[in-house]
Amino acid sequence: MGKLRTVAAVLLLLFMSQFVYAQESGVSIYDLAVSAKAVFRWNPGMETGELSKRGDVVRFKIGIPFILINYSKKIESVKVFRGKNGAVYISQNGADAVLDLFRERTPAPGSMVVKAIIIDPGHGGKDPGAIGRHVVNGEKIVLKEKNLVLDVARDVFMQLKAKYPDKEIIMTRNSDKYITLEGRTEIANRVKLKDNEAMIFVSIHANASLNSRSKGFEIWYLPTDYRRELIDTDSLDKDLHDVAPILNSMLEEEFTVESILLAKQIQSGLEKTVGDVIPDRGLKEESWFVVRNAKMPAVLIELGFVTNREEALIMRKD
Ligand SMILES: [Zn+2]
Repeated sequence: MGKLRTVAAVLLLLFMSQFVYAQESGVSIYDLAVSAKAVFRWNPGMETGELSKRGDVVRFKIGIPFILINYSKKIESVKVFRGKNGAVYISQNGADAVLDLFRERTPAPGSMVVKAIIIDPGHGGKDPGAIGRHVVNGEKIVLKEKNLVLDVARDVFMQLKAKYPDKEIIMTRNSDKYITLEGRTEIANRVKLKDNEAMIFVSIHANASLNSRSKGFEIWYLPTDYRRELIDTDSLDKDLHDVAPILNSMLEEEFTVESILLAKQIQSGLEKTVGDVIPDRGLKEESWFVVRNAKMPAVLIELGFVTNREEALIMRKD
């Protein structure tokens, strides 16, 4: 008899759990993240969460009747709630929106994808770059550009790797090593790409000035009239030799426009994140810097001035 009662109790429990499930029907966000191959982050204190993939982000909060896609698009009437088992659930309409956003898309034929990002920490080894000397609480501090930009480049590398696992993220140096300017662009130019793949080159530096009050970040790109030798005439078919200069200038035009777009993106990103402590000195064009031989869109960032005490102290922090 005792056994029968246990069976009845188990059946009743199963029936009740069905009932609970029917009332709060939805998909566990953990399962959703697994099937969408997205990254799930949860803040238990705020009861907020986020799913992200390839730079797209969905944000949600328990009890708030919508989810937010890429900080701009709202999907209304979505229920995010805690299930009986304590896990976080989302209503089916929300799960569908998430799956749609994160579904694997094959790029349309002809559309380009950035496949590789080259991060180039300036200087290194025997070349320290700019040096800032300051006294902080009676202690002498020497800030060398080569060390500072390597730390920043490593951090950028890790963040890009995590955000874009299917892209190639390449550092021109990952130690205190001297590399010539030619060596740096060679590393980039050696990367093999398919026809619809592109890459970008980002050189990271820090500034210096005799005027210790100079401060702010700058982003540089090649002048619009600068001409690189992008196309190797010998590698072209004989009948294309005559048009090589035209092909070259078309490619040059494209790289210049893309470099300016990239510079603007980085500028607005820096403005948003550090703009209140490191002022924006604007976009600048110059033909002498390292990226002049990179056969791709390329920019150079001057993070701030190691010679400015305030900025040097900020740049030493993570
Ligand atoms: Zn430099």
